[in-house]
Amino acid sequence: MKKRINRLFVIISVVAIVLSIGLVAAVYHSLFRKQMMSDLKEYADLLKELRWDEGAEEPEYFETMKDMEIRLTLVSPGGEVLYDNKADITQLKNHLDRPEIREALNSGEGQAVRNSETLASNTFYYALRLEDGSVLRVARNADSMVSMFTSVFPTILWIFAALILLSLGLAHFLTEKLLYPISKMAENMDSEISTADYEELIPFINTIQKQHQDIIKNARMRQEFTANVSHELKTPLTSISGYAELIETGMASETDIVRFAHGIRSSADRLLTLINDIIRLSELDGSEKEPVFELLNLREVAESCVENLRRNAEKSEVTLKVCGEDCRVQGDRQMVEELIYNLCDNAIRYNNAGGSVTVSTNICKSPEEGRKVGSVILSVQDTGIGIPKEHQDRIFERFYRVDKSRSKSTGGTGLGLAIVKHIVEKLGATIELESEPGRGTEIRVIFPEAKGI
Ligand code: ADP
Repeated sequence: MKKRINRLFVIISVVAIVLSIGLVAAVYHSLFRKQMMSDLKEYADLLKELRWDEGAEEPEYFETMKDMEIRLTLVSPGGEVLYDNKADITQLKNHLDRPEIREALNSGEGQAVRNSETLASNTFYYALRLEDGSVLRVARNADSMVSMFTSVFPTILWIFAALILLSLGLAHFLTEKLLYPISKMAENMDSEISTADYEELIPFINTIQKQHQDIIKNARMRQEFTANVSHELKTPLTSISGYAELIETGMASETDIVRFAHGIRSSADRLLTLINDIIRLSELDGSEKEPVFELLNLREVAESCVENLRRNAEKSEVTLKVCGEDCRVQGDRQMVEELIYNLCDNAIRYNNAGGSVTVSTNICKSPEEGRKVGSVILSVQDTGIGIPKEHQDRIFERFYRVDKSRSKSTGGTGLGLAIVKHIVEKLGATIELESEPGRGTEIRVIFPEAKGI
C-alpha cells in the first residue's frame, strides 16, 4: 500500500511539473508574441506619418531601427516593394502573396509570424495600410520557442530534478503520516484511531474492530467449550473405568456385578447423549445443514412430540397437555420437533410431582409486545421449580446449568437450550422466557407468519 501511494504521489508530481512547465512556456510564448506585435504596431503608427517619397532623406531613427534589427518595408497596393531598409528592392519579388500584406490591404492591418528554415528564429510582421493605399510593414526577428527552450533546457532539467527529489521526499513523508494510524491499529486492533483525520474510514474501522472482537470472543468460547466437553466426557468415562476395574479384580459379588453393569450402561448412555448433543450443536453451528423449509401444522407436530414424552411425564408424575389452534408455520420438521421436544423435556425434568406442562399454539391477533399480527406463538408452560432472575440470561449458553446435580440426575447435558437457541435462529424465529422460582416457567417461540411455499 505504501509503495502504491508513494508511486501515485510521484506520478502525480511528475505530471503536475511537466504540465506546469508546458503551461508556463505556452503562456510566456503568447505574452511574448502579444508584446512583440504591440511594439511593432507602435513603430508602424509612428512611421505612418512619414512621407515615403523616393529620394527623401531617411530620418535619423531609421539607423536606430536598423541597429534594433527592425526591418521596414513599403509595399505598393499592387504588391511591388517600394522601399526596404534591409534589402535591395530590385531583388524583391511581388509581396502580394504575403499574408500580412494581403490582410492589411483588405482590412487595414495584418500580422504574421514565420519560422526561419532552421526553426531557430521567428520573424514577426506587422503591416499597416497607409492613407495612399500602400502598405507599411514592420518586422523583427526573435528567438523561436524551440531555440528559447533549447537554451533554457539545462536549467529546466535542474529545476525538474530538484522538484522530483522534493516530491519524492514529500511523498514519503505524507505516506508515512497518512498510514501511521492505520499501521498502529494493525499492531493493536483495539487502539483508538483519530476520528477527525479519518472520518471516511470510521465505518470500515468499526467493522474490522467488531470482527476482531468477534473472532477473539469466538476463539474464547471455543476454548471454553472444548474444556467443558473434555470435563463432561471425563466424568462418565471415569465411572465406566471404575466399575470395569472392580469387576476385573473379581472382588465383586454376582449382585454387585449386575449393579456395576447397570452403572456402566447408564454412564455409556450418558456419554452417547452427550456426544449426540455435541454433534448436533456443531451441525447447527456450521452452514452445512441448512433447514429444509416446509409448511407444518405446529399443533400437530407439538402433539406428536408430547406423545413421545408421555411416558417420561408419567414417571415424573407430571401431566402433559396440548391446547390452542391449528397454526401453519414454515419450518424444518426435524428442527421444529427437536425444539418442542427439548422444551417439553426440560419442562418435565424441572417440574414437581403433581405439576403440569401445557403446550399451546396460537396465532397472534393483536400487535402486542412488538409481535406482528399473523405470527405464530408456541408456548411451553410448566408449573415447575422456575429459574431465578440472575440465571435467566445465561441458560441458553452451552453447559450452563442452574442446578448441576438436578440436571445430571435427570439426564441433562446442559446443551438442550443451546440447541434450541440455534434452531430458533435458523428458522428465523425469536424466543422469550418468563419464569418465577417456585411458580414455573414459560418459554415462547414466535414464528414468522407462513407465507406459503
Ligand atoms: P440441561 O440438559 O441441563 O437441562 P438445558 O440447556 O436444557 O440443559 O437447560 C439449561 C439449564 O436451564 C438447566 O440446567 C436448568 O437449570 C435450566 N432450565 C431449563 N429449562 C427449565 C425449566 N423449564 N424450568 C426450570 N429450569 C430450567
